[in-house]
Amino acid sequence: METPTPQSFYTQAEDYWRDVPPTVDGMLGGYGSISNVDLNGSKMFLQKFLGEGEGKTGTGCALDCGAGIGRITKRLLLPLFSTVDMVDVTREFLDQAPAYLGPEVAQRVGHYFCQGLQDFVPEPGRYDVIWVQWVIGHLTDEHLVAFLRRCGSALRPNGLVVIKDNVAFEGVVPDETDSSVCRDLDIVRTLVREAGLRIVHEEQQTDFPKEIYQVHTLALR
Ligand code: SAH
Repeated sequence: METPTPQSFYTQAEDYWRDVPPTVDGMLGGYGSISNVDLNGSKMFLQKFLGEGEGKTGTGCALDCGAGIGRITKRLLLPLFSTVDMVDVTREFLDQAPAYLGPEVAQRVGHYFCQGLQDFVPEPGRYDVIWVQWVIGHLTDEHLVAFLRRCGSALRPNGLVVIKDNVAFEGVVPDETDSSVCRDLDIVRTLVREAGLRIVHEEQQTDFPKEIYQVHTLALR
């Protein structure tokens, strides 16, 4: 097990994000240009599971974790689900969300939860899909496992937890700038299993710039 991480791991991340502008470029660390490719890839991924019939994932309610201003909520989740809840630790991003989403569609946001995922308890049995993108590196191993376990309990029948994130080539690479870590895929898989979840599908995002981390998407239940 990893050694306990000091509270400063979280407070430094909060300080970092509080100074980031509430824009798509801010959400993506200056890589706003990859947003379309990212969202199209996510849509292709998710559509494999949605639809009518035996074993298909429902389209009633989704949760966007580390949602920021709602980049994913707007273009991926609100077009596919009746209701979307958002959770993020940064108040300013959630405050900006209604304007970014547009007043009409923002009416279908059920809840804006301003809380760290390490503390957040999603309502048991509420969600068809729980989307967790570019935020797991902000949780310690212990908190990530516990959070994923709570996500598992928050799923409806045939529901899915989706992790989409950077993966390191080997081991754990700390990022002092935003106070996060980047884990390799084996480590992520191990933590997922510790949380009692099973990987049902896995893909690598294609067509991203070569200089950034590889990004993988994992469907879990
Ligand atoms: N998933 C969004 C935003 C990514 S930026 C997207 O892809 O567009 C990372 C987000 O994680 C920021 O909005 C930041 O405020 C949030 N965040 C950082 N640490 C967090 C934590 N411990 N709990 C919840 N959200 C956190």
